[in-house]
Amino acid sequence: NETSAEILSTTATTSVATSTSADELLLPTDVTPLHYRLQLEPYLEDKDPYGENFTYYGHVSIRIQCHNATNKVSLHLKNLQIIGRINISLCFPRATVLTTPNLINNDTTKTTTDSITTITTGRRNKRNAAARRRHRRNHPTSSTTPVPKTTVAAVTPPHVTGHVQEDKKEMDIISLEPALEAGRTYVLDIKFKGLLKGSLYGFYRSSYRDKNGTKIWMASTQFEATHARKAFPCFDEPAMKAEFEISISRRDDMVTLSNMPIRATEPIGDQLGRVWDHYEVSPKMSPYLVAFIVAHSDFMPTNNTMVTYLNKTSPEFRIYARQQLLATAEYASSIGPRVLEFYGDYFGIPYPMPNLHMAAIPDFAAGAMENWGLLTYREATVLYDPKSSSMSDKDNVVIVVAHEIAHQWFGNLVTMKWWSDLWLNEGFATYMQYVGSNHVEPTWAMQDKFLVYEQQPAMALDCLKSTHPVYTRVDNPSQISEVFDSISYSKGASLIRMLNNSLTEDVLRKGLTRYLNKWKYNNAEEKDLWEALMEQIRETPGSYLPTNLTVKQVMDSWTLQNGYPVLTVTRNYDDGSATVAQARFVLDNSSSDTFWYIPVSYTTQEERKDATHISRKTFPRIWLKQEPAITIFNLTKPKSFKQWVLFNVQATGYYRVNYDSRNWELLADHLLNSSPQDELPAITRAQLLDDALYLARAGILGYDVALDMTRYLAKREMDYVPWKAFHEHLRYLDLMLRQTTAYGDFQKYVLSILTAVKSKLGFVHATNETQPETLLRPYILSWLSKMDDPDVINWAKDLFRQWTNSPDPDIDNPIGVDVRQEVYCTAVRTGGTEEWDFILERFQAAVHKPSESDVLLASLVCTHHEWLLLTLLKKCMEGSRGFRLQDAVIVWNEMRTSVVSSRVAFNFIRSKWEAVYDKYGKDEFLIGHILHGAVSGLTTEIDFKD
Ligand SMILES: [Zn+2]
Repeated sequence: NETSAEILSTTATTSVATSTSADELLLPTDVTPLHYRLQLEPYLEDKDPYGENFTYYGHVSIRIQCHNATNKVSLHLKNLQIIGRINISLCFPRATVLTTPNLINNDTTKTTTDSITTITTGRRNKRNAAARRRHRRNHPTSSTTPVPKTTVAAVTPPHVTGHVQEDKKEMDIISLEPALEAGRTYVLDIKFKGLLKGSLYGFYRSSYRDKNGTKIWMASTQFEATHARKAFPCFDEPAMKAEFEISISRRDDMVTLSNMPIRATEPIGDQLGRVWDHYEVSPKMSPYLVAFIVAHSDFMPTNNTMVTYLNKTSPEFRIYARQQLLATAEYASSIGPRVLEFYGDYFGIPYPMPNLHMAAIPDFAAGAMENWGLLTYREATVLYDPKSSSMSDKDNVVIVVAHEIAHQWFGNLVTMKWWSDLWLNEGFATYMQYVGSNHVEPTWAMQDKFLVYEQQPAMALDCLKSTHPVYTRVDNPSQISEVFDSISYSKGASLIRMLNNSLTEDVLRKGLTRYLNKWKYNNAEEKDLWEALMEQIRETPGSYLPTNLTVKQVMDSWTLQNGYPVLTVTRNYDDGSATVAQARFVLDNSSSDTFWYIPVSYTTQEERKDATHISRKTFPRIWLKQEPAITIFNLTKPKSFKQWVLFNVQATGYYRVNYDSRNWELLADHLLNSSPQDELPAITRAQLLDDALYLARAGILGYDVALDMTRYLAKREMDYVPWKAFHEHLRYLDLMLRQTTAYGDFQKYVLSILTAVKSKLGFVHATNETQPETLLRPYILSWLSKMDDPDVINWAKDLFRQWTNSPDPDIDNPIGVDVRQEVYCTAVRTGGTEEWDFILERFQAAVHKPSESDVLLASLVCTHHEWLLLTLLKKCMEGSRGFRLQDAVIVWNEMRTSVVSSRVAFNFIRSKWEAVYDKYGKDEFLIGHILHGAVSGLTTEIDFKD
């Protein structure tokens, strides 16, 4: 699962107090599922036989294995209505599959015997025809059917004596008489009815407008983490893996999709114009990875451009989107198969499913979801339209696609045993997304971006007292949804990157293959991974792990403890030694006695003169072994007063470094004056800026020293990655100073730094510029605009005027795609109702431009007129024309950017809390973003008291 770029702070603790104990929330393991036969009959605009819309009828037959005798079976279910009786029947090995052509018939007395026909796939037919014949003769098709005494005389088939729904546990508990016997398998039959609601979880409805403006309905799923139970009764835990055999009925002018390919399509006898799509049986998988979609046939690619086969043996790769957007899937369809092939080689395990389909869903909560074989995306995270999407959108597409495809191995093939280990899934997918995207876009500096997209944002949260360890015990569904945060994703990924560097890439990669092979189609925990890596280390010499340490020892100190360390390097310039001390880095500088096993890499200015490339020095040269400090002798030659040292080379370790003030000065001087061939790499420059400014923020380093490190920016920095790191600090300083008298000086400082870059970079995209340069321009321009740089404001206003004067502004837009947000925002901020209304109209018309629509929406928040901001929040809540539920995330995230909008947002929440909670409260993801947006722009004492 990929959450949106602006991740929730980990400080939100939305857990609902519950009296149910943790163990009771887990399913008993007396029985486990083997196989689901799931049939669904969804109705969208076409009414169901009872005249209702947006309903579906389902029948699930779950083959279960009994491990311990029990007369109770518990499974998950939420917001579903059970129809008729639940049945259980004894099953023999090699059970055949049951199907009912018409689920609406809820006359259960005749269902099981009359309307169930036994069907088998061709494969089974061949393999076990004899067993099946035996089976068919003996199989008791219903609990009411007496079992022929000749074959199973000793067995009394159980029947269901009753069942109770326990809402708190989201379970249905079925009582059976007599008890199920250990070692036997049974089939549980449940019929149910569900509603296709407008929420973004479970089996839900979504819509879009076709080219004539007609609203078209579709239905899709989002099950991670605990929402499969909202779609069908199931054993909804990641370790309860089973095969899924799905059938979906549809109108014959519609299409359906699921994880596997369609095996057969057949008409439904008594319902004219409706057919069944029967899907192949899936491999063993967790229920949260099941997916299905029902859509209008224009969702189906009509030409073959979006179907790619990399080679004859590779799986079918296909992208689905509504017809009007399908052409914009071209970028994803060109990179997707290459990423897929790359991972297959990287892990040494071919992609295990027959196809990889990706679908762009108009209404979608998170960024994307890795359902096995059927990846679902928010439209803007997979579709790239060169005419209306920016380079930053494209950057995001490759990252998200590479993330979701990585999950096909990490998460889908091998799954965490329980959600407490979520970081294993998400940390690996996040780490791999840079490896995979670097493979397909080698000139985009993806490996450098890791630092500013993942590691630094994770460290920003992880230095708060409210952080949590990467491994976090979670029990109930709200706690589970809380761990989908930067700590699991970005810190998890940073720890893998550190491990990669300490063990060597060769060991990590082979160790991963070993782990994946050992646990495939199964579930694993942290310790299983550490074990696989340890086995690999023993086989492959060359790892930098000291022989007396294990991977588990080292990693436990990182995954089970809160936060991360800061190393303080104090040099003795006379004798060339240095002491290196560790302490937990906490923003409020509180002391702590937590210690880590730290792989310490370093290099010196002297070594760099020997032409040793800095990237070769990232491996650990010493380890701090949960000890407060060590001394490194002969770090430099004695009396090296003018030579700097640098620790944590390329920020490969998940920690910060502080130096004595002389070393900071030497580094600042080097940044400013080094010869081009001696320049430190971009990732190192980004690291030095972030470390210095964070240490200053925590009060450990003087701001004079930290700001000294920024002096070189104006003179020579043209790389995106260091600027991106610096941008986060500008944002913070702006937030803290904007209501103080010091703001004027801040403004002068920012202008002095940025003006030189503006003249070098210019306003317009140059044909020969690099991708990171294209990404940099909007950052520079947006700060200059915010600081009231007259050139930038006039440029933006002028372009905006040209746009408003164009005959059809929804088609002709003279503003370059990469600077649209800056231009729109400047025009709205410096303008009035006219500009705001113009943007609102464009937003409402941009129904076929998902990325553009997000930019327009964010720009509406730039106004400084309170009543316009209120109008926006109201429209968003009411879901007025063009506003989707998911848009609340964008709007509320932007509300903190100015004093005016922060205040409006906070007052809105306070005065309309009940209505806000009513609309968004059920969705922790949405309400979390809203609360974060409503308070994170507040910085004064009075705000705090409020
Ligand atoms: Zn993910």
